[in-house]
Amino acid sequence: MNAFYDPLSAVYPFPPKPAQLSAEEKSYYRAKIKHLLKARDAVMVAHYYTDPEIQQLAEETGGCISDSLEMAKFGAKHPASTLLVAGVRFMGETAKILSPEKTILMPTLQAECSLDLGCPIDEFNAFCDAHPERTVVVYANTSAAVKARADWVVTSSIAVELIEHLDSLGEKIIWAPDRHLGHYVQKQTGADVLCWQGACIVHDEFRTQSLVRMKGLYPDAAVLVHPESPQAIVELADAVGSTSQLINAAKNLPHAQLIVATDRGIFWKMQQAVPDKILLEAPTAGEGATCRNCAHCPWMAMNGLKAIADGLETGGARHEILVDEELRKGALIPLNRMLDFAATLRP
Ligand code: SF4
Repeated sequence: MNAFYDPLSAVYPFPPKPAQLSAEEKSYYRAKIKHLLKARDAVMVAHYYTDPEIQQLAEETGGCISDSLEMAKFGAKHPASTLLVAGVRFMGETAKILSPEKTILMPTLQAECSLDLGCPIDEFNAFCDAHPERTVVVYANTSAAVKARADWVVTSSIAVELIEHLDSLGEKIIWAPDRHLGHYVQKQTGADVLCWQGACIVHDEFRTQSLVRMKGLYPDAAVLVHPESPQAIVELADAVGSTSQLINAAKNLPHAQLIVATDRGIFWKMQQAVPDKILLEAPTAGEGATCRNCAHCPWMAMNGLKAIADGLETGGARHEILVDEELRKGALIPLNRMLDFAATLRP
C-alpha cells in the first residue's frame, strides 16, 4: 500500500442500470444512429466490454470493436471528422489526445473507470515525487493529467513486453494504477516494480474457490484470464492476456469449452471467433445492488442505444470530450512512445 492514498477504500459513484428498451425502440434508435453517423461524418469506436447490440452496430456501420490500444489507433487513422467512442471516459480522452482536430463524442461523460477514479492526479504526483529515480509507467485507464505525468503509457496487450524492455535498460518502475496487472508484469519480467494500489471493480470480483469448483465441474475446459484479475485467479489460467489476446487464445487453444474471467461483454466477439466452442462465465461474488459483482462493468453498460443517438444528435457539453491543450500535449508524449513501441513489436 502506498503511504499517500488508498484507492481500495475509495467509494465510487456507481451509475444506475440503464432502462431496457423495447424491440421497437431498439430498432428506432438503431436506424436513427445509422442516419446520424452519416449526417455527422462520424464513425463508432467501441470497446469489447460494451453490450453486444452496441458492438454489432459498430460493426455494421464500418466502425471498430477492439481493446483500448486498437481503439486509439483506429480512431487516429480513420478519415471521419467525428468519433463516437462507446466505452469509458479515458478512452474518449485518449482519442482526443491523439486526434485533436476531430470531434470526440461519447454516449455519456459519466462513464467512469475505477482505475481512473482510483488514481487522482494530486496523490499520484506526490507518489511519483517521492520516487524520482523511477520511470513512471501508467496504464491507459488513467486521466489525461496522469498520462501527462508519466514517461510511458501502456495497455495490457503490450505491458509485459514494455516492462521487459525497460528492465533490460536497468530502469526501476512505478506502475499505476492496477495492482494486479502490476504484480503480474513484475512476476513475468522480474523487474523492480513499485505498484500503485488501484483495482478494476469487475476483475477484482472473480472468486478463486468458486473457480476451482467450476474447473471441477468442467474438467476439460481451459481457463482464460485477464491480468487485471487477482493473482490467485491468474494462477488458475491456461491463458492470460488482454481482451484481444484472450480472443486469440480462444481460437488457438484446442479446448472445446472455455471458462472466461473478464467482462462478459467480450463474449460477443469471442463467440464469433469460435462459434463451435462453449463459453462459460467465470464465477464472481454474484449480482449485487451496485451491479458491481456481475462480471459486467456498470460504466460500460451506460453505452446504450438511446445515449448514443442522443450523443450524436446533440453533442455539446453532455457528450463532447475536451482536453486542456497543455495537458493534451503532455499526455501525447508517453502515448506516442507506447504506439511507437507497439509498432516495433507488431509492425
Ligand atoms: S471493466 Fe474495469 S478496467 Fe474496464 S472500464 Fe470497467 S472498471 Fe475500468
